[in-house]
Amino acid sequence: MFSPEIRQAFQQQLAEMQAQGIFKEERVICAPQDADIEAEFPIGSERRKVINMCANNYLGLSSHPEVVGAAHRGLDVRGYGMSSVRFICGTQDIHKELERKLTEFLGTEDTILFPSCMDANAGVFEAVLNEQDVMIADRLVHASIVDGMRLAKAQQDTYKHSDMAHLESKLKLHQDKRIRMIITDGAFSMDGDLARLDVIVELAEKYNAMVFIDDSHATGFIGKTGRGTHEHFGVVGKIDIITTTLGKALGGASGGCVSGRREIVEMCRQRARPYLFSNTVAPVVVSGAVAVLDLISKTTERRDKLERNTRWWREHLTEAGFIIKPGETPIVPVMLFNAKLSQDFARDLYEEGVYAVGFFFPVVPKGQARIRTQLSAAHELHHLEKALDAFVKVGKKYDVLHKTKQEIIAMYGE
Ligand SMILES: *Cc1c(COP(=O)(O)O)cnc(C)c1O
Repeated sequence: MFSPEIRQAFQQQLAEMQAQGIFKEERVICAPQDADIEAEFPIGSERRKVINMCANNYLGLSSHPEVVGAAHRGLDVRGYGMSSVRFICGTQDIHKELERKLTEFLGTEDTILFPSCMDANAGVFEAVLNEQDVMIADRLVHASIVDGMRLAKAQQDTYKHSDMAHLESKLKLHQDKRIRMIITDGAFSMDGDLARLDVIVELAEKYNAMVFIDDSHATGFIGKTGRGTHEHFGVVGKIDIITTTLGKALGGASGGCVSGRREIVEMCRQRARPYLFSNTVAPVVVSGAVAVLDLISKTTERRDKLERNTRWWREHLTEAGFIIKPGETPIVPVMLFNAKLSQDFARDLYEEGVYAVGFFFPVVPKGQARIRTQLSAAHELHHLEKALDAFVKVGKKYDVLHKTKQEIIAMYGE
């Protein structure tokens, strides 16, 4: 029974979140995902045309006509839903085709689809590792990896973010285990930095460890032909397990996968619980994703454009006097340090027609509040120019341009 006392307890918890300023409010988009969108914020207010600077739509394929067309055709020839998990009657020819294409694109041995990358991460460790093994993870890995590790029976350990000496000491410490698995995001979503895969692979060889990467923020656009962080670091074929999502650059609908060593993938087919007990990816999504892989295998045009957009945006924000996290990914955090400032700044940007979100503790460390901007191949120069104008206007209002971190903190606090 949902008694009045229980209801009140939940109401109080929610009110506390609001008081602490950590209550998440959704903005409602009344358009397909693209560089230009119409949004309502707050809900029920007048719709406004804004430039989207916070989607994971890196390649601009979320509403691409070829992808939408392929999804329509898939709907026509393979239906809407499968009403089954994969191993009963939920595997169509197109699921196998997509798995084959992902394997080819990622340069691995085999691939298994999951309902999402969250599910891939939730299933893979438990399916593959046992009590004699150890998982050694970067401390900033994605929440879905943290959850997946919790479900596995293997021992857990961590190393400081991208600290290779610390990782090495952990590898030495765990020489008595059957399997040592190094676990990291390929590209980290909050800072936009890359894992040091060249060093990680070297250490893995030296200490006989396996390497796992989650390339959700890299697949399709990092590396010369967009295959991911393993291509960027020249270690294709040396990563044992790659998980990634179809929910970001690869059309952005839904679905994820585990790709890598043949036997690992087969273990997942036999034992990974989100694969065995959750519905198959819908044919319409599979058909769209097949078209995405065909498109990005044929030409690097879109990832090249994304790279140009990223360079332009990083250079011009820096020139304008903002402090950004250095790097080369299309995740460009504009540092403001103070939580309230990040929220006020985002609200003002929205008024200026730019949609970006302010992040603060606990999503990022205390004192590191920021606006995270993300580039897309859907952005044209005029979008970026207009977004820059808005950033500069709001930046002037809060007097944060050409200021040091210390000066901004002196004005607003941490
Ligand atoms: C987005 C993301 C996921 C989740 O992907 P879904 O397919 O949406 O579940 C997992 N890992 C990382 C690193 C991500 O950025």
